[in-house]
Amino acid sequence: MPNTSAFEAFYPSSSLNGSGEPPCSKSAPRMRTPGTSRANEDRDDDELDSCSCGAVLHRYRRRMRPWQACFVHPGVGSVSNVVAGCPKKMVYGPCGGVQADGSCEMQPAPCTFVEPISWPYPPAAAAPVRAPVVLTDVSAPPADAAMLSRTARLLAPSCDAVLVGDHQDRPDFSPTLLARLLHDAGVVPWVTLACRDRNRVVLEQELRSLRYDGFATVLCVTGDGRAFDVRPEVTQVFDLDGTRLAALAASVGLPVAVAETITARPTGLRPGRLVGKQRAGAGIAVLNIASSVTQVAGFMAAAQQAGLTLPVIASVPVYTDERSAAVLSALPGLELDPLGVRRVLDATDPVSAGIARAVEDAVALQRIVGVEGVNLSGMASARGPMFAAEVQAEIGRAIKAGVQM
Ligand code: SF4
Repeated sequence: MPNTSAFEAFYPSSSLNGSGEPPCSKSAPRMRTPGTSRANEDRDDDELDSCSCGAVLHRYRRRMRPWQACFVHPGVGSVSNVVAGCPKKMVYGPCGGVQADGSCEMQPAPCTFVEPISWPYPPAAAAPVRAPVVLTDVSAPPADAAMLSRTARLLAPSCDAVLVGDHQDRPDFSPTLLARLLHDAGVVPWVTLACRDRNRVVLEQELRSLRYDGFATVLCVTGDGRAFDVRPEVTQVFDLDGTRLAALAASVGLPVAVAETITARPTGLRPGRLVGKQRAGAGIAVLNIASSVTQVAGFMAAAQQAGLTLPVIASVPVYTDERSAAVLSALPGLELDPLGVRRVLDATDPVSAGIARAVEDAVALQRIVGVEGVNLSGMASARGPMFAAEVQAEIGRAIKAGVQM
């Protein structure tokens, strides 16, 4: 059953926050004092105020109901302590979408974070997560239960868990239903929960539902910004960021995975940022695709020095044709080795070459201290989900058998 008392800690009516500490003293709504005018309230809201924990409190806009709340304090809050100018309203940024020149993925301006904001609270209790040796991305047409199940059954013998993504342009079943369908198909589900398309209440609903079922590990991410030409009529929410979502998920007792994009600027500060997510309640980490095995090894050494103890899953890009390589290359912050890509695509048999390269990368990544598994990442092939799953399954079987190609 869900750990209700821990979950309640995220509601304003609670008497304790997620760390079991006293509630933030500034978290209660400030109601209008009898006899004061609206104008006086507006002046109050213009005063810069801070929480007892040190965080700057959000000042609501004029003409709105007066309310101040501490957002870093995991008890309550909605939009305070956000770094000004971040389109994703992040507190624990920067996100993984910082461009190579330091600019923001969502607007033509520099990223507003000079350095990551670290998690300021004592380490949260994290549910243990069993690291999969092979974690395979599963892809099927959206809201196609039959195809999802077929794909999952094909993958089942070749991996320890499957990861279902959260796409900007493909409205799918809810993460909870996806987890249930995958579980019923005989695989261990990992589901991605992103903050882009769900407000805080909906995120809380999903976390409660996932905890009730108890099938899935939840990968908590902020989410990439939606491309300008994809569903421009849809609001991008970003009530939370990945770190705060991880804390929320941990508070309900879910096994929590977090992601880090080690190629995104500021690269030297990414190890510490991942340690912050560990403190927030993550039980395992997935590193997004890096440009080389050496880069992953350097990141892991720095992260462990900074205090990382989480098991880590490193991503292996899986592509066997132009389109599957291009889809991965287009993801914000990710870097594919261009020479490796050409070697696969220019081969006489790109499918075999892509499989061999993925296995080779996986074996090398698994030798890095702290890397306990690999994520077969990407659509693998443009020839349909079943063909792609065959490619992934062959790679997974080879890795699990310890084959070096
Ligand atoms: S790159 Fe990410 S963290 Fe930085 S300002 Fe843009 S959205 Fe915010």
